[in-house]
Amino acid sequence: MAKVNTVLGPISPSQMGGTLSHVHLTLDILCWYAAPTDPELARLAAKPLCLENLGLARRNGLMVRDNLIQNDVELTIREVREFARAGGKTFVDMELPGIGRDVAALQRISRETGVQIVASTGWYTQASHPPEVAALDIGALADRMVGELEVGIGDSGVRAGNIGEIGCSGMPDMPCLPDEEKVLRAAARAQARTGASLTVHPNGGTHGSRETPKHHLDFYLDVLEAEGADLAKVYMSHMGFYTADVAEHVLRRGLGFVSFDHFGHEEYYEIVGPGRAFPRDKEEVELVMRLIEAGHADRILIGNEIGWKTCYKAYGGWGYAHIYDHVVPWLRDCGASAAQIDTILVENPARLHAIA
Ligand SMILES: [Zn+2]
Repeated sequence: MAKVNTVLGPISPSQMGGTLSHVHLTLDILCWYAAPTDPELARLAAKPLCLENLGLARRNGLMVRDNLIQNDVELTIREVREFARAGGKTFVDMELPGIGRDVAALQRISRETGVQIVASTGWYTQASHPPEVAALDIGALADRMVGELEVGIGDSGVRAGNIGEIGCSGMPDMPCLPDEEKVLRAAARAQARTGASLTVHPNGGTHGSRETPKHHLDFYLDVLEAEGADLAKVYMSHMGFYTADVAEHVLRRGLGFVSFDHFGHEEYYEIVGPGRAFPRDKEEVELVMRLIEAGHADRILIGNEIGWKTCYKAYGGWGYAHIYDHVVPWLRDCGASAAQIDTILVENPARLHAIA
């Protein structure tokens, strides 16, 4: 019988309820940290996130070290309770070795909030890879992932329920770096062997919103297909960086789902270039509505990944309940039906994350 692996054990897909398929709960992305050279900026950037450097963090978040770490489990528990209060039931957590994965913390967050949490396996961008990734070949990396999906993560007894987010960087010219391609190939093989869902963090956002070349996405899909992955079980994260035409293109190629998961992440990272930013909520609402109107409600995922500390309510963000509190009413106001919202938040994740 189909099941979904959570950190507290397997559940049936019908028990998932309202689900966000791309969420961070114990993230450490110091791999993106870029220390400023200007002495005044360096002074601000070195401080714990506070009102004095919140503007800097929202304008150039990769400069503020503390913005890139979510290691206060007590705070996360308080913030996750908001998601449960709003009606949400399940998170698919994207933490991986090298970016803060902590299965014991996920278990504690799940127990204390009642929110079901699916843990993931794989590796993020090359800058975050633990040393073993360079040392192992594609087959050995695939074996590691299959082991975490079928046996457990370390000696925790917790089985992963998802592969990814598999990180691709190398921007702007390359779709990914060499070891990232190796991991992507291994992830595809692990998907083929287990039937688990798989997601890719594409090399988006460096050219400014909506300008990332779509041939990068084609490269990822070519690799996944060549290694035997079932594209129906694959979702592309961060699709807010692309146009609706690009989303329709990858769906036509057979990709299972496009994920618009930057809701609430309305900050800039200008160290990459002026105006470089996550998509605005307005842009993602427009993209989602266009795809709904084109008949793709059954291929869409929405979410707010909470990728920086500034996304937390305690630091001026909109928190884990943002989709329920603000985005769903907005989509309804634009004409999305209750049934279409239910398809996107409940039915699609259940189909995607079910392991036969
Ligand atoms: Zn993410």
